[in-house]
Amino acid sequence: MTTALGELDLLLTDHHVHSTWSDDAVSAPMENLVAARDTGLASIRMVDHVRTTTTWVPGFLAEISALPRVEGLEVLTGVEAKILDASGRLDVPDDLVVGAGGVDRVLIADHQFPGPDGPWSPRRTLEELAAGLPAEDALSILVTATVRAMERAGRGQLAHLFSLLPKIGLHESELLDEHVAAIADAAVRTGTTVEVNEKWRCPGPRVVLQLAAAGVTLVGSTDSHEATTVGRYSWVAEAASATRLVGTR
Ligand SMILES: [Zn+2]
Ligand SMILES: [Zn+2]
Repeated sequence: MTTALGELDLLLTDHHVHSTWSDDAVSAPMENLVAARDTGLASIRMVDHVRTTTTWVPGFLAEISALPRVEGLEVLTGVEAKILDASGRLDVPDDLVVGAGGVDRVLIADHQFPGPDGPWSPRRTLEELAAGLPAEDALSILVTATVRAMERAGRGQLAHLFSLLPKIGLHESELLDEHVAAIADAAVRTGTTVEVNEKWRCPGPRVVLQLAAAGVTLVGSTDSHEATTVGRYSWVAEAASATRLVGTR
């Protein structure tokens, strides 16, 4: 087993798996559990999309806790919510419980750009950049909002970190080292885990290496919306071996 990543090998975790509790996913939690067992995962996190108006979280948690136990497979829970604005406010219900009796973690997602006045669509963000918002300022706003979201979440996990950048015409290579360092510092300080995400192929090797070197806990994530892809990695496996994040087992 690798030592760089702690107890669990990156490729033996899938900490971002959606079920039919999300509008856009097709498999039941039980089907995802069976897929995780068959793929030989050591740890799965069942996660669904929430908004401030979501009321089904207790029902979701009840279904997950009623699943049969699978020896050697840890089952964790989470909800995925977008960062709403530059203050790092998250799109979660007011009564969300995180920790004992609630979800294990909140997945912090860059589905929209966290503008000062609320979420900006990628199109609006492109317009703001075209109208003169400097790219470096946009990156700083995004990084600062992400740090604040980690502080607010308490127990967070950064979902597909920087998946927004290509949608707004930017690239991870434009990030300053201090941007990545700010994310790393906040993740360590708040105990936030960071995904290496198969679906969105992010974050890239430079960011992954800088986070790992800072002691951030990285987890594998397929962002599956159907059971057939649970725990199945190709890009993440390549990235992990290219960055030597997977030791000999
Ligand atoms: Zn997402
Ligand atoms: Zn997702």
